[in-house]
Amino acid sequence: MNTPNTSEPLIIRAHMLRREYQLGPTTVVALAEASCEVEPGAQIALMGPSGSGKSTLLHIMAGIDRPTSGEIRWPALGDINSLRPGPVGVVFQAPSLLPPLTVIENVALPLLLQGIDERSATNAALEALSILELDDLSNKLPEELSGGQSQRVAIARVLAGGPSLILADEPTGQLDHDTGAHVIDVLLAASDASGAALVINTHDPAIAERFATRWIMRDGHLTVSEADITTTLTSDLTIVGTPC
Ligand code: ADP
Repeated sequence: MNTPNTSEPLIIRAHMLRREYQLGPTTVVALAEASCEVEPGAQIALMGPSGSGKSTLLHIMAGIDRPTSGEIRWPALGDINSLRPGPVGVVFQAPSLLPPLTVIENVALPLLLQGIDERSATNAALEALSILELDDLSNKLPEELSGGQSQRVAIARVLAGGPSLILADEPTGQLDHDTGAHVIDVLLAASDASGAALVINTHDPAIAERFATRWIMRDGHLTVSEADITTTLTSDLTIVGTPC
């Protein structure tokens, strides 16, 4: 497990983030004045029921979406315009591999798109697959992979980019419990191997328990303080236990 490095610049500093969506006359508040910090190497599970605002926060952290108000900075990574695949890796719930490319080509692709030469990109891809013990999948096509294998390859693709921050949006949402647990093993291994901070969205308490730091989202309100979390977590477990 990574030990967060508190002497280096923060990966993320977010202050009073609010995100509203306008649906006709109705304003949906997806995120309500959320503040948080992500230290280098931190491993954080963001918990909460479906619809509570987890993906919204993750997308803003990734620079894919912008808040309606509030401020987010990436002190260790530059401003929003310098965020790019590589230093910031995102793993989504849905399969994201390109069907015509083999596993090794999928993993190397983001590096090639950054202008890295083919040999270096392939070597980095091989190394990432090897670290995550996925070497035997290198020459397979995505259609030959199970859902869990596809997610692990997507994590290798993130790792190959040398990330400082890995964001995973319900990466086990479409997987059975055991396969999902293995995907979490691989995410934690990728974070450990690269020293990258890891933030994962989940509504599964069993997954969240594996993370040193747990944040709770409920109705767009984020709880990050350890003091408040025990009470919130206890009541949230009831919510999470019912279908949402
Ligand atoms: P979670 O990830 O916890 O399931 P989301 O961040 O996806 O929650 O959604 C938070 C709230 O914002 C929900 O009420 C959802 O319906 C709403 N929302 C998310 N994206 C949009 C959108 N593009 N347009 C309108 N409402 C949205």
